[in-house]
Parts: sequence; structure tokens; C-alpha cells
Amino acid sequence: MGKVVVVGSFNVDHVWTTPALPRAGETLSGEYATGPGGKGFNQAVAARRAGADTAFVCALGDDLGGQLARSLAAADGIDLRDQRSVRPTGTAGIYVDGEGRNSIVIGAGANAELSEDFIQAQRDTLATAAVVLAQLESPPDAVLAAMRAARAGGAVALLNPAPANATVTAELKAAVDILTPNETEFAALLARHVGERVDGDAIAALDQARLHAFCRELAPEASVVVTLGASGCFVSHPAGALRGDESAYYRIPAEQVRAVDTTGAGDAFNGALAASLAEGGDAPFATRVRFATRYAALSTERHGAAAAMPRRSDLAERFG
Ligand code: ATP
Repeated sequence: MGKVVVVGSFNVDHVWTTPALPRAGETLSGEYATGPGGKGFNQAVAARRAGADTAFVCALGDDLGGQLARSLAAADGIDLRDQRSVRPTGTAGIYVDGEGRNSIVIGAGANAELSEDFIQAQRDTLATAAVVLAQLESPPDAVLAAMRAARAGGAVALLNPAPANATVTAELKAAVDILTPNETEFAALLARHVGERVDGDAIAALDQARLHAFCRELAPEASVVVTLGASGCFVSHPAGALRGDESAYYRIPAEQVRAVDTTGAGDAFNGALAASLAEGGDAPFATRVRFATRYAALSTERHGAAAAMPRRSDLAERFG
């Protein structure tokens, strides 16, 4: 089993559940809960619980949020490599109303400080990776350095291009082996890099050959896995990309589960895909995507993001 190194964000999430979303000047009462978040941390927890030896490279403040990250990483057996920042640990303020709608404010804090130099300084950790997984809640230079370090060390460079409003440069695209956008992120990438305007909600219904052509134009050298929520995912490979691939493109349906909270399903999927790829061996890519699909489905049967990440044993129990 090879190692997964996740490079990304840690946030302390503050969640208020209120009857309605607050308007300007309004004071409301609500239920409050706090817990860990940030795409990077969620994905690191998923990779670890899916069975991979996992390191998490991030930036933290010298504060209670930083202490929380350290203790949670230790509890899950994640090797934490944190750049200490003078800025506060990242935070997210989340309001959720009675109908499940939300308003979110993110204070990037220390996450915005994660530097290319710090990534370079982690070269010993990165050199041990079988897979390096990053997202876009960290500065572009740091993400690019992480993807390039993966390639240089012979690891798979896996990029989850989230959130959708973050920019993916041509340089970053060229440094990546596998891209995993959700529908909204895929639509944003198509608009920017292919000049195609497609509504994110319409992606799942598109003809597969057309989706494949979009993926090939978007990232000619990379495999693309577009996650489609309850519709599963679509996979597109460039010719000869990965050993054992049975076709250049295919759909993998979602598992039928009783979803109660899909927050962090994408993070579950990415962490589990990284863990499965890090296992090495001869399993085809589609088998690894199926593992990630099951893992993500199971995560939706529980509330929360990092806290809802299943363990490998839960998966075996549920799906055999
Ligand atoms: P989020 O932003 O909530 O973390 P996302 O939009 O990045 O999620 P999705 O495409 O919604 O990611 O979900 C990722 C994967 O999780 C899907 O490809 C699918 O395999 C699984 N999944 C998501 N929702 C469901 C569901 N309702 N039932 C079964 N599987 C699901």
C-alpha cells in the first residue's frame, strides 16, 4: 500500500441552523454546532479511513483551530505537516435554514498563506507518495508545486478542481494526471478552457461521446472523472493513459443508498479514489472508481463531512 499526500485547506466550520437565512440588520436565534472542515482535511480523513497511509500538508494558525487540526489528525493517524502562520486558522461561517438552503462565508486565514516554499520543504514527504491529491482552496503556486512534485517523484498527480470559482491555469492543467470536477466545476472549466457554455445541471444528461470529446479537449493528457452526485460519475481517459483500462470512456452509476447529507460526498470520493490508486496492483481504473463511488455513497448516509467519512471495515460490512 503506497502513501497518499493531501495538500490543502483546514477550516473550523461554525454552523448555525436558523428558521431563515439572516438578512441585513437582522438578529436571529439558532442552533450552533462546530467541527472540522476544509476540502483538504476532509479528503485526508477520507483517504486515511479508506485505508491509506496518509500525510496532510496545510497551513494553520497558532490558535485553537490549529490545535483542533493537530488533535484530530493525530486521532485519525494522519501525518500532519503544517506551515505555522501568523494568520488565524481558516474558518467557515455557515447558516442553514429550515429548507436546507445555506449561506456560507469563508475566512481563508492561514490557508491563504500555504507557500510554494513550504511545499518544496516537504519534498521528503512528497517523495514517499504514490498519489498526491490537491484542491483549489490553497494558493495556486502551492497547488502547482504539489502537482509538479508528484510528477517528479513518479506519483499520480490528482487534482480536485474545487471550488468552481477558483481558476485552473493551463500550466496547472498540464501538470495533472487525473482531474475530478463535479458538474458545476466541469461546466466552469468547459466555459474557460473549451469555450463551451453548458449548464452544470445539464451535464449528467449529455451524450457520453460528446462528454468524452469535451474532456479530451479540456485536458488532452489527463484522465477526467466528472462526479454527478446521485447519477454517479463519468470517466474519460486519453489513449493509453492507464494500464488495464477497458475503454476510453464509461459511466459508473452511484450506489443506491438512503442519503441523509451529501455534504462532503465529493471529498469522500476524492480521498477514497486516492487511497485506491495508492494501493497499486493491477486493478483497472474503473474498479478503483467503483470503490470511491461506494465509499462516497456510504458517507452520505451520515451527517457531517470529515466526521461522516466511513472506515474501510464499514464498507466491507455494507457492500460485502
Ligand atoms: P460536495 O460538494 O457535496 O462535497 P460534490 O458536488 O463535489 O459534493 P458529487 O458529485 O455530489 O460531489 O458526489 C460525489 C460522488 O458521491 C458521486 O460521484 C457519487 O458517487 C456519490 N454520491 C453523491 N450523492 C450521492 C447520492 N445521493 N447517492 C449515492 N451516491 C452519491
